[in-house]
Amino acid sequence: MVWPVSSSPASMSRTESRRPAPPRERRLSGIGVSAGIAIGPIFTAREPALEVARGTIEADAVDAELQRLAASVARSQKQLGKLRVRLSVLPEEGEQEIAPLIDAYAHMLGHSRLMREVRRRIAEQRVTAETAVMDEVEALAAAMLGPAGARRDDEAESRQRRADEIRETGRRLLRNLVQAPFRNFANVPQGAILFAEMLRPSDAALIDPGRIAGIATEEGGVQGHTAIMLRALGVPAVMGAAGLLAGAKSARLAVVDGEAGCVTLSPLPRTVADAKQGIAALARERQRLSRLRRLPAITTDQEPVELQSNLELLAELPLVAASGASGIGLFRTEFLFMNRETLPDEQAQADTYRAVIEAMDGDGVTIRVLDWGGEKDIEALAARGLVPDTLDHNPALGVRGLRLLLRHLDLFETQLAAILLAARAGPVRVLLPMVTNVTEVRAAREIYERVARRLRRRGEKLPEKLPELGIMIETPGAALAADALALEADFFAIGTNDLAMYALAVDRAAADVAPLYDPLHPAVLRLIQFATEAALRLRMPVSVCGEMAANPLLTPLLLGLGIRSFSMNAGSVPRVKQAVRGVSIDDCARFARRVMEQSDPERIAELVGKFGE
Ligand code: PEP
Ligand code: MG
Repeated sequence: MVWPVSSSPASMSRTESRRPAPPRERRLSGIGVSAGIAIGPIFTAREPALEVARGTIEADAVDAELQRLAASVARSQKQLGKLRVRLSVLPEEGEQEIAPLIDAYAHMLGHSRLMREVRRRIAEQRVTAETAVMDEVEALAAAMLGPAGARRDDEAESRQRRADEIRETGRRLLRNLVQAPFRNFANVPQGAILFAEMLRPSDAALIDPGRIAGIATEEGGVQGHTAIMLRALGVPAVMGAAGLLAGAKSARLAVVDGEAGCVTLSPLPRTVADAKQGIAALARERQRLSRLRRLPAITTDQEPVELQSNLELLAELPLVAASGASGIGLFRTEFLFMNRETLPDEQAQADTYRAVIEAMDGDGVTIRVLDWGGEKDIEALAARGLVPDTLDHNPALGVRGLRLLLRHLDLFETQLAAILLAARAGPVRVLLPMVTNVTEVRAAREIYERVARRLRRRGEKLPEKLPELGIMIETPGAALAADALALEADFFAIGTNDLAMYALAVDRAAADVAPLYDPLHPAVLRLIQFATEAALRLRMPVSVCGEMAANPLLTPLLLGLGIRSFSMNAGSVPRVKQAVRGVSIDDCARFARRVMEQSDPERIAELVGKFGE
């Protein structure tokens, strides 16, 4: 059964559909997450239509079915709670119109007749939760509407509204029961700007940067994986723009400015002309920076610095080649596992890794093993029951990264085998995500060596010395235990994105706490310093591969702290190279000492902005 496509609560306003607002220019501010300017027609991405099958269950499956329903209710309540919070940033009329709707949905998910009857149907009629929801919603809505023509206009209107609310609640429950499938952006018109309530990292992996000119969403933060992907693809994007979808109903054209962090709906000719000028200026700047491609990344006092690219998808390889990066410093392999029904097997993974290694033509590739985290949905893992339900606990603090791999050895061993087989094609390192203690690293190394022995027994030729096994330093625990971890690992890659999130207790992907996410907070800088010094004492390679590495304003500070290897989105390599070529290590070291004496993040930001003045 196909249920109609649902829309966001903001688009449910009934008065708005009768009186469309005249298209006047409107600027919405959000968070600029991917630089660049785009002008284009708006295309609003809706949730995919729901394909819901009807079905019955056995008597002994009733409890499990009631639990599935409870999980869907909890997820729905959580979503509504988040929507309610975001309403506070809308103009007052918007909030007054939409808030009662959300309250009505939330009420229906509580001790309502709807929920009571759905549970009864599951228990007595032995039907699936989906069937119970569909049947009860339709029965209630029909009872609410009564026979056509039997009522006065105003009463009919109010009953229609109630029936719509019941149906919308049902749609939300169903979406959460079937865990809606991944989206398809194939029908987005060429050159359009994609508007959406939110985009998941797996959605971002489906974006074709040659087709979609820009992106704007209501949810999301600058350090989330969706933002990281959009930067990697070079698509201008703004996230956290409240009121976007409501505004888009009366607008056709938009300008997205990913640098300024604003979206202009129905732009005036003057605004479009300014945006065109901005696009031309950016193209000239890109042209100028591309001349740096062949120049070495070396400071004015001749210290060589390694500048590598992060990689998520093979589609980024041409951008990496154009950037002048010397290899891949972080290959986030989780994107290989997304948007597919089944998990990639050893052969499929080895083929992909080999393609990347061969494309790098002798430059190193650091392959990070699967870092599943709450934000990064992977349907194929969920379908096999390999990942925990992120509703039960805080997903950022649960079974993610290496913790998951150590619990599902087949997953881990398959990936390690694929990397080892591909490593015959060129220089490779293996990187472990979300490490917090030495026991995990020892366990991972044991498994790694066991997999290598097994492959050799199978007759596979592997290099005498296995590729190095390094760890991400992305939790405060790992950073503060870096001296002990340095004895177990072959290299460190400092993941400043998670490190800042965990150190400051700020969700990196959330728009509402985005201003608190500050990698220049002294706590974050001290963790970076501590981990870097632990590595340097043992002369062990250490790099930064979080988003801090991509910001040329931070290059002198990181060089001054001892970092000589950076990995970032390909588009940022030329600017960071320019920064490296303009400084001396002596000046950077002096500057870092000065910064590390500060306790006020604002003062640090001020110093960073004035480096070299
Ligand atoms: C990090 O946490 O800084 C990092 C590089 O890993 P990811 O962004 O993939 O979590
Ligand atoms: Mg991380």
